[in-house]
Amino acid sequence: VYLGALEVHLVSDGMVWADAGGLFGLVPRALYSRIVQPDEQNRLPMALTCLLLRSGGKTIVVDTGLGDKLTDKEKEVWNLQRPEGSLLEGLARLGCAPEDVDLVLNTHLHWDHCGGNTRGQPEAARPVFPRAEYLTQRLEYADAIAPNERTRATYLAGNFAPLVETGRMRLMDGDARLTDEVRAVVTRGHTRAHMSVRLESAGLSGLYVADLASYAVHFEKLAWVTAYDVEPLESIETKRRWQKWALERDALLIFEHDTLVPMGRLKEEGGRIRVERMADS
Ligand SMILES: [Zn+2]
Repeated sequence: VYLGALEVHLVSDGMVWADAGGLFGLVPRALYSRIVQPDEQNRLPMALTCLLLRSGGKTIVVDTGLGDKLTDKEKEVWNLQRPEGSLLEGLARLGCAPEDVDLVLNTHLHWDHCGGNTRGQPEAARPVFPRAEYLTQRLEYADAIAPNERTRATYLAGNFAPLVETGRMRLMDGDARLTDEVRAVVTRGHTRAHMSVRLESAGLSGLYVADLASYAVHFEKLAWVTAYDVEPLESIETKRRWQKWALERDALLIFEHDTLVPMGRLKEEGGRIRVERMADS
C-alpha cells in the first residue's frame, strides 16, 4: 500500500501457533473464542508480519521474524508454517535484496521480532542485512542481556548481542525520526521500551502497532492484554493514548501477529470502539 508518498509493504516471515493463554492471559476463553477459535491443542495462529518501507531514499525493514536459526524440533513445537516463504523471499519478490536495506528496526528483542537479524551460530552470528544499521532501544537491550526466569526463553543473545558488540546495532534513547515520514515511538507495556512505528505522509497516518496490540482485538479492548506483557497496566494506558491518536487521524493500523486482521482502521460507533478490517492488497 501507499501512504501518501510512503511505500509500505507487509512482508510475512510465516506463522507459528502459540498457546491461547499467552495471547489472551486473563480474558475468558468464552469471550475470545468468539473472535478466534483455538485448535484442539488450545493454540492460536500468530502471524509474523514484518514491514518493508521505502521512504526518502531509504529502505527500512521493521522486525525480522524468526529467521532461519530454529532447530527442526523448535519448528515442530511452534508449527512454523511459511506458505509465502520467509521474510527474505518476500523481500526478494518486492525487488529488495538484503544488501539494499539501510535500516533494520527491532520494535523489541523478543525472539519472534529479531530472529531474522542474524544467521549462523550464536557465537559466530553474522548480520543478514550486510549494509544495514540495526536499531533498537537502549533500555530494551539492557533488559534483553539481563533476562530473568520469565523472559529468558524469548531473549536469545545471538539475535542481537553480536550486532551491538560489533557496532552494527545503534541503541536509541526514546522516540526517533528515521526519515521525514517514519518515526520510531516508544509504546511501553509489552516490554519497558517496546516500540511501534509511526508513519506519516501527505496528511495520512499509519501505525505499525507491533506488540502494543498483538491482534486487532487487543487494540479495540483496553483490558485485553497478552500474558506476555511485562507491564500490563502500562499497556492499557499506552493503548488508551494510541486509540485516541488513531481515531483522530483515521490511521492505517498494521497488526503484526493477527492472521485475520493484518490491517485495519479504528472506528467509534455509539461509544463502541472497533477495528474495521482492511483488505490486504
Ligand atoms: Zn511478538
